[in-house]
Amino acid sequence: MSYTPTRSDFDQYMAPNYSPQQVIPVRGKGSRLWDQEGREYIDFAGGIAVNALGHCHPVLVEALKTQGETLWHLSNVYTNEPALKLAKSLVERTFADKVFLCSSGGEANEAALKLARRYIYEKHGEQKDKIISFRQSFHGRTFFTVSVGGQPKYSQGFGPVPGGIQHAEYNDLDSVRALIDDNTCAIMVEPMQGEGGIVPATQEFLSGLRELCDQHQALLIFDEVQTGVGRSGKFFAYMHYGVTPDILTSAKSLGGGFPIGAMLTTDKIAPSLAIGTHGSTYGGNALASAVALAAVEHIDTPEVLEGVQKRHDLFREHLEAINEKHGVFKEIRGMGLLVGAQMSDAYEGRAKDILPLAIEEGVMALIAGPNVLRLAPSLVIPESDIDEGMTRLARAIDRLVEKA
Ligand SMILES: *Cc1c(COP(=O)(O)O)cnc(C)c1O
Repeated sequence: MSYTPTRSDFDQYMAPNYSPQQVIPVRGKGSRLWDQEGREYIDFAGGIAVNALGHCHPVLVEALKTQGETLWHLSNVYTNEPALKLAKSLVERTFADKVFLCSSGGEANEAALKLARRYIYEKHGEQKDKIISFRQSFHGRTFFTVSVGGQPKYSQGFGPVPGGIQHAEYNDLDSVRALIDDNTCAIMVEPMQGEGGIVPATQEFLSGLRELCDQHQALLIFDEVQTGVGRSGKFFAYMHYGVTPDILTSAKSLGGGFPIGAMLTTDKIAPSLAIGTHGSTYGGNALASAVALAAVEHIDTPEVLEGVQKRHDLFREHLEAINEKHGVFKEIRGMGLLVGAQMSDAYEGRAKDILPLAIEEGVMALIAGPNVLRLAPSLVIPESDIDEGMTRLARAIDRLVEKA
């Protein structure tokens, strides 16, 4: 008999940087998960906006199996067919001409920031090194990306942070005008803040950032790690705004659950990432690329993307009904299947208390900061699973209210 791990093994063997829920899911299919006891859950967490086609989608399983029996990994000493197909497919769907493949969102952003610095360095000189990003933003956990991110708790206590980084207020162009000058290298921004609380950018804000970057010959970087690959209802969220970045990063939904990231840019900027300037052993791994290609081709279709908007409306209706009953939310917002419900003043800081109650009721959800309940389900979640999952979530919130 093989040994069955328990939650207490986590505390015994794993580094203590996470605090996972008590249940251990062992199997998933579509938008349902089952734990070690065989209890079933509806998954509105989606592996934090990663499982864009739910669990074990047949299209992804097929791509994984076929590639798994063909070729996994070569390193970048050789190129491979799935990586080339994926890069071409991303170029054809976006503003970009060139793609750098890697294995995570943080790594894609690290590449974006290094490319921006290097391009500007070569073109304008080393004094033009300032990077502007936004308070509450999240760009990953490498040391450069936590420093650019706007949540100091993630960069404190690790020694001196890289220089030249400034933080402005999200959706506030005046705060950017106060910082930007001819020594600004780049602005990095999420078209909708994810970890920062599901806050969509205003049209005026993104258009204004593009203008300011153009005025000061700075690069505009969109971090679409969370918002990209169908999550917003378009292939990338920038497509809602008609504002084109110079560099864009993708990960999460891109692999549908297989670790992969990508940085996209233009023919003008890409040459600064010359031979030897940057790299990644796993970047463009054949297995990861094959799964991502299948995910991209399946997601970027009118059926899936139009379905995202329809499902958004359904989630919103359910959340509004809960709110009519209990008044627990101050605002319900988001785009596509990245939906946030901000807690009302009476429930300030209590979003996380919903999660264990929701698990008891058989539904998995997320938070985005202490005040926002976040839902990031599969883009193809059946409507009946939305109804059932929201009924369960409503029961969890009934219990939160009873306890208060
Ligand atoms: C999740 C996330 C990242 C980091 O991605 P990892 O794959 O965890 O490195 C970066 N930016 C945004 C906007 C994210 O949501």
